[in-house]
Parts: sequence; C-alpha cells; structure tokens
Amino acid sequence: MGSRKMLSSKGKISDYSLEFKVTNGLSYYISSLLLEKHGILVVFTTRRGGVSAEPYASLNLAFHVGDDRDCVLKNREILCNTLGIDLKRMVCAEQVHGASVALVDEKAVGKGAFSIDESIPDTDSLVTGQENIPLALFFADCVPVILVEPKRRMIAVVHAGWKGIYKDIISNTLKLMSFDKSLDKKNLLAFIGPSIGVCCFKAGTELIRNFSARFNGQDWLQKDRIDLRSLAKRQLIENCVLPKNIYACDNCCTSCRKDTFFSYRAEGGKTGRQAAMAMICSQ
Ligand SMILES: [Zn+2]
Repeated sequence: MGSRKMLSSKGKISDYSLEFKVTNGLSYYISSLLLEKHGILVVFTTRRGGVSAEPYASLNLAFHVGDDRDCVLKNREILCNTLGIDLKRMVCAEQVHGASVALVDEKAVGKGAFSIDESIPDTDSLVTGQENIPLALFFADCVPVILVEPKRRMIAVVHAGWKGIYKDIISNTLKLMSFDKSLDKKNLLAFIGPSIGVCCFKAGTELIRNFSARFNGQDWLQKDRIDLRSLAKRQLIENCVLPKNIYACDNCCTSCRKDTFFSYRAEGGKTGRQAAMAMICSQ
C-alpha cells in the first residue's frame, strides 16, 4: 500500500528528466513535465532531422562552421516549426569559450537568429526572465547546461566547455540570475545535455596539471581523461543547486555516439553543431 503511493508520487511530482522524442523526423531531448507544468521549454537537439550534407548532416544549426547558409536556415526553421517557436525571436551568442554572461531582454530579440555577425558578442551564457524569447547556443562536445527557476520563471543557457568550466561560467551565470532577489536557488532545476564523456575526453599533461591546481579531489579524473560533466555538476552544487534537481542526459557522449550527435573531437574539427535551447512560453 505505502510503496505504491510512494512510487506514484515519485514519478509524478518531481521527474523533470529529459526524454528522447522524435517529431516530424526531428529527434531531440525535452523535459515534457517542465513544459506541461510550468510552460518552460528545455530542449537539446541531436544531429538527426535536418537537410545539411556531410560533414554537417543533417541538423547542423550553426552558421560559423562552413555549412551552406541556406541549409542552416532551413534546419533552424524545421526546429522552430516543430517546437512552436518563432525563429525571428531567437537569441544567440558569439560563443568564444569565455565566461561572460548576458542578460537578455526584448531589445536583444532576434540577435543571431539569421546570422552569426548579429549574435551577442563575446558571450557564452544567456539569461532571461522574459517570456517568448528563445535562447539558443550551439555545441559539439562542450557541456550544454540549462538552468530554470520555474516559480520566478527565469532561464539560462550556458556553453560550458573545458575553458568555460575552468573560468567558472556556471557560477557567473548563477550570480547574474541571483541579482533578482525573488529567485530562490532551492527551486533551481539544472539540465545537462549531450557532451563529450569521460570515456572520450583525453587531456594532455598540461591541461591535467592546470585542472589539478584549480579543482581539488580526483573524482573528475580517470587516468588521462577529464570528466567535464562531473565538474559541471560540482559547480552547480557549489552554487546552491540541489543535487536532486540536476538532470543529466546520461549515456549521451557526443564522441561515442557520432550517429546521433556532432562531435568536434571525433570528427577532426569539421562537423556541425547541435543546440541547447530554452524558452519561457507565454501564459
Ligand atoms: Zn565517449
């Protein structure tokens, strides 16, 4: 009797886990409960469902990688039409592997939607508390992190590669979000999308030396490989995100699963980008 009740409440109340979905041939990960319950969209795309040719096949969403511009635009349209998003309002950042965070409002709407040159410069993390502004960043191994405060209705999309993690971009993002005093860190949900796993992120001695000086313990190191996802989780927890509120796309190593994801390392640098996207829907 008791156990049945526990199971049903566990499943219903707090399972914002990412689910794999295929809609109109487009495959992606989404937190369905978050959308249903709070009207907040959190999506991580895969490489499947677009129109680009190799090595960008097929859902390359980034302009800067050498793909045909019309194909990228078509891919962005496919994605936005499938998810009910207005592409004209999408906001993107230049992504320079730095640690700068931008607060996005109505003035930034559409920046980077149709060209990299118009994206928000020198920025690797986007935050907004406003409705109907889709935030999108692009990835091929780096760790995508999406933060959501569902009660205050505030979101962030973070590009956390090894450089961003080293330079504390997750902490910078949470600091910016905390300027809003009505934001309660206990409510924060964090989603970690597809990225290179500890299975594949082999690092040189200098990088390991720098990381050892920067991060205590050894739980992030396996022989000569760095576990970026575990460091991202550590930084979230150090910044007051509750461990139970962190949802990772497990078994999503971009390098192991080249059939599903773009991987910069596994494909020698010439490949497409998948997106991490979030939006507070109008209520
Ligand atoms: Zn791997």
